[in-house]
Amino acid sequence: MAVTRTFSIIKPDATRRNLTGAVTKMLEDAGLRVVASKRIQMTREQAEGFYAVHKERPFFGELVDFMISGPVVVQVLEGEDAVKRNRDVMGATNPADADEGTIRKTYAESIEANSVHGSDSEENAKIEIDFFFNEDEIVG
Ligand code: ADP
Ligand code: MG
Repeated sequence: MAVTRTFSIIKPDATRRNLTGAVTKMLEDAGLRVVASKRIQMTREQAEGFYAVHKERPFFGELVDFMISGPVVVQVLEGEDAVKRNRDVMGATNPADADEGTIRKTYAESIEANSVHGSDSEENAKIEIDFFFNEDEIVG
């Protein structure tokens, strides 16, 4: 299996509860390596642009409000089959449906405040990494 990259966000509900390290440890324990990381306050424009694919969904406005409600940690993760590996350790979108041992089962507060984002395909991973990082900020 090839070593690939994916994009992750530790969301405001997790940074608020001082869970940056705990979430990152779960990512690392799942075989992912943090090759870029920065803590940022997203602007409304950034959040709307990042989640543009969801703009017709009823929760879009609340999702944007939530994502700018506090700092987030954006990360590039590297590992074998990184997109799937990350989605597996994240767990289902709704923590009520997430498997034991996943980040969302362990830490998420709700279907919205669900602690982490992870790219859903290699194609989207590239787009999302480029949205937040320059290549010279990624050091594997
Ligand atoms: P995932 O993050 O698992 O890929 P989606 O891409 O479907 O899930 O949704 C993006 C984000 O929008 C979710 O992580 C969550 O924060 C929020 N969200 C999804 N569904 C709902 C919902 N029904 N109500 C409120 N927020 C939601
Ligand atoms: Mg998604």
